[in-house]
Amino acid sequence: MYAVKSIRQTYPQNQDLDQMMEIFRQMVNQCIRIGLENNISTLQKFSSMFYHELSRYKIQSYYKFTAMSQACGRLSQMKSDIRKGRRVKPPFVSRPFLVSCHGFKINGILLSIPIGNKRYINIVLNDHVISELSKGVEPRSFAITPTSLSISVRKQVQGITPESVIGIDRNLRNVTISTPTESVMYKTNKLLSIKENSMRVRAAFRRNDVRVKNKFFTQRRNRQSRRTQQFLHKISKDIVQRAVMTKSMIVLEDLTGIRKLYKKGNGQGNKYRRRLNSWSFYELQRQIQYKASWEGIPVEFVDPKRTSQLCPICGGKCQEDRFNRRKLWCSNCKKSMDRDVVASMNISCKGWSRFCHPRGLSDEAVKGNPDNLQPVILRVDGSKLVCGRDI
Ligand SMILES: [Zn+2]
Repeated sequence: MYAVKSIRQTYPQNQDLDQMMEIFRQMVNQCIRIGLENNISTLQKFSSMFYHELSRYKIQSYYKFTAMSQACGRLSQMKSDIRKGRRVKPPFVSRPFLVSCHGFKINGILLSIPIGNKRYINIVLNDHVISELSKGVEPRSFAITPTSLSISVRKQVQGITPESVIGIDRNLRNVTISTPTESVMYKTNKLLSIKENSMRVRAAFRRNDVRVKNKFFTQRRNRQSRRTQQFLHKISKDIVQRAVMTKSMIVLEDLTGIRKLYKKGNGQGNKYRRRLNSWSFYELQRQIQYKASWEGIPVEFVDPKRTSQLCPICGGKCQEDRFNRRKLWCSNCKKSMDRDVVASMNISCKGWSRFCHPRGLSDEAVKGNPDNLQPVILRVDGSKLVCGRDI
């Protein structure tokens, strides 16, 4: 089994590269045009019928194939969007870029990109990229934009046989995980304040100039997404480290379609909808998925239905606490429990019976692991996690 990830760095500007990126962009757009006219979106058909159309571009033939492949990818994505009933525009590439999986070399600290006539452009790799490349990974392709260089690498990983399950419950103000021995709650209040602050700063913009406004808005949006990603990286890293240490598989809720619950016209307030629609539940999932696959840890999904209603100890239905809405009261066990911890324990139990012990009935999923009876609840502020340190 192979795991794939990409390593990114910046690089100094180079005129030859800029030219090549622009030619590549034009080639991709030309291929998209031809593909739309002839209704073709497979690379094999495209390359056999229309390769000669790219002969006027003065660039190595490696890049012509990748341009066709890029165009076919975009066209087939458009087709699948149409099938799903989404509104689509024909694809168009507006920013120059260059992708290739052929012909490039990595010699120690240099990445050499062929530009024809046995000439190469050399880019000096930074320490981070060199140290990642020295860990026995295989570079497969590179992608260059005017601001960054990414090298995609892969390595062979051995999938682990899970000995336990980590259930993850994602909420607006926290991410809670349950392992067989403990539950950990990462507070994510800071994410909300990052988004609110960024929104307020954008709303306070008063200049009547579209160009300045667009530039300002892009800067603020990029800053917001960088800060959010950085925050979530700390949490996802910690979760995957725990999974590696305890040889556990990771189970998440399948939240596909959750945005439909907060559409305009559903009778909810603007503020509430804005908060829930800016909730970045998918970004955490993406990070956990790629980091876990890099370590050979399986990630699975379960249906979130009733996970925050049923008692993880007896399986009965819990009642909402009158005084604290984040607490649940089980009248069988005479116990008050944290709602998010209950949800993560139920997800973990569901995952265990579904993927590790598949003979259990689906109704029994929540009557589960007796080790989970007395969880130790650690409350962790996600912003205070230090990368690489075990908490
Ligand atoms: Zn109970």
